[in-house]
Amino acid sequence: MINFLDLKAINQLDREAMLEACARVIDSGWYIAGAELSAFEHAFAEYCGTQFCIGVANGLDALILTLQAWKELGLLADGDEVIVPSNTYIASILAISQNRLVPVLVEPDEKTFNLCPTAVAAAVTKKTRAILVVHLYGQLANMPAINALAKEHGLLVLEDSAQSHGASLGGRRAGNWGDASGFSFYPGKNLGALGDAGAITTNDEKLAKTLYALRNYGSHEKYKNLFKGVNSRLDELQAAILSVKLKSLDQQTQRRREIAQRYLAGIDNSGIVLPSIGGNSSDEQHVWHLFVVRTAQREALQKHLMACGVQTLIHYPIPPHKQSAYKEWNELSFPVAERLHDEVLSLPMGPTLSDEEVDQVITACNSFVVANAS
Ligand SMILES: *Cc1c(COP(=O)(O)O)cnc(C)c1O
Repeated sequence: MINFLDLKAINQLDREAMLEACARVIDSGWYIAGAELSAFEHAFAEYCGTQFCIGVANGLDALILTLQAWKELGLLADGDEVIVPSNTYIASILAISQNRLVPVLVEPDEKTFNLCPTAVAAAVTKKTRAILVVHLYGQLANMPAINALAKEHGLLVLEDSAQSHGASLGGRRAGNWGDASGFSFYPGKNLGALGDAGAITTNDEKLAKTLYALRNYGSHEKYKNLFKGVNSRLDELQAAILSVKLKSLDQQTQRRREIAQRYLAGIDNSGIVLPSIGGNSSDEQHVWHLFVVRTAQREALQKHLMACGVQTLIHYPIPPHKQSAYKEWNELSFPVAERLHDEVLSLPMGPTLSDEEVDQVITACNSFVVANAS
């Protein structure tokens, strides 16, 4: 059986270095907000090319706290509209509604799964104050066009980079395109902790200072509280582990790219639509968090692959506007998002897949017989 993602194997790669890091933390006697956190924050800011990195408890908090910080700084207010893709993971949208801001869902480009700048432009109203861009599945959204639009309309740009650590365009990485960016280090992400963790990157010092306080009860100085903050801290143990794994990230991304190229070259079935890398001949902007194909016969394909010993997952089966959590949107129609949610299927992807396993997935895909539409 080829697992969709073999986290155990991935974490074996850095096992010795992670054990050393854990021992260092255990023996230090200091477990929250210490040297390990600042070392990781510096390393990750440098990796992204930004001035600041603020570690938090998870990726959802990274997005929630950034929007909250902009409210504290007077840049956003209750009821302001924030544009967000209609096909994203629910976290991007929760971050907006939890801040009493209004999510405005915009359809993605069917080929790249990412926000389409023309559709964004059409959705801007007098109440729009920000765009929450999601670099879905590991591919950068069209940031040059989205930033130009944001500038034209005076909008803030928040990147949701939870799936795109290291994705870049012209050498500029995810996390360094917007006014701020939220990252998740959930274990299954390309850079994953051994538990929950997240971070915000930004070049805005005022925002960074606000976030350092918000994640720690709104406090800059011990026992003085500037804001109604929360407890959302990235602990020393996870920070130490992330510092180890960050060193292997580019090499692991390289392996993901090799696997993606092998899939792209090898899968040849009229019933399966392969992912597109946005018309760009180079794939530097894609870090292949997920390798997502489309098919009109998803259930049949998933069953066939399982019978061939290939595990697949669906990211994601239900679009946000059809969730019970957003009852008020259930009657709305987003045909592109709905079609994508009906058709997408994620093939096994990860740095520890062998060429033989990848070839087995390819053979299984190519032996899928498309049923005649009746
Ligand atoms: C994983 C993910 C998040 C949330 O990250 P957590 O660390 O699980 O809170 C947000 N947005 C996207 C697109 C994600 O994939």
